[in-house]
Amino acid sequence: MARLRLATAWLGGCSGCHMSFLDMDEFLIDLAGTVDVVFSPFVDVKEYPEGVDVALVEGAVCNEDHLRLLPLLRARTRTVVSFGDCAVTGNVTALRNPFGGAESILDQVYLGSGGRVPCEPGIVPALLDKVVPVHAVIPVELYLPGCPPSAPRIRAVLEALIEGRTPRLEGEDIRFG
Ligand code: SF4
Repeated sequence: MARLRLATAWLGGCSGCHMSFLDMDEFLIDLAGTVDVVFSPFVDVKEYPEGVDVALVEGAVCNEDHLRLLPLLRARTRTVVSFGDCAVTGNVTALRNPFGGAESILDQVYLGSGGRVPCEPGIVPALLDKVVPVHAVIPVELYLPGCPPSAPRIRAVLEALIEGRTPRLEGEDIRFG
C-alpha cells in the first residue's frame, strides 16, 4: 500500500489540536509505518508541497498569511480536514469579531491603554477584520470537531483515511464534554 502523504497546518488556533494529535501516543509509532508527514509544525518544511493526500487544518482564518496558504493547500491536497472547533466554526479565535475590525482590536488591546503593538509593522502578518472558519475560504471534505478533538477521535479519522474509507464518527467519538 502506498504511504499516505499527510500535512497538518496551524492557522489561528492555540495548538491544542496539534497537542491532541501528539496524545495519540503509541499509535504515532504505527502511523509512522504508513504515513509521511510532509508539512507540519512538527517538521521543518517551509513550502507547502505538491501531492498531499490529507491535510488537517487547525485554527480559524484570522490573518493575511492564512489567506495566502489556504488556496495553495487546497490546490495541492486531495482531502482537506477542518481540524478542531476553531477551524470548523471560528470558536475561540472568532470571539474578537463582535469587538470590531483589526484596527479596533489592536487599539483596544494595545494602544488604548497607552501601550504599543509589540512588533514592527510588516513582521507579524496583518490581522483580518473578521475571523472566519476554514470552509469560508476554501472547500473542505471533512469536519473533525472538538476543542480539541480527542486523540481517539483523531485516530478514528486517520485510520479510515489510511484504509481508504470515508471516516464516520460514532459512539464515543461523537460524545462531547
Ligand atoms: Fe485550541 Fe480548541 Fe481551537 Fe483546537 S479548537 S485550536 S484546542 S481553542
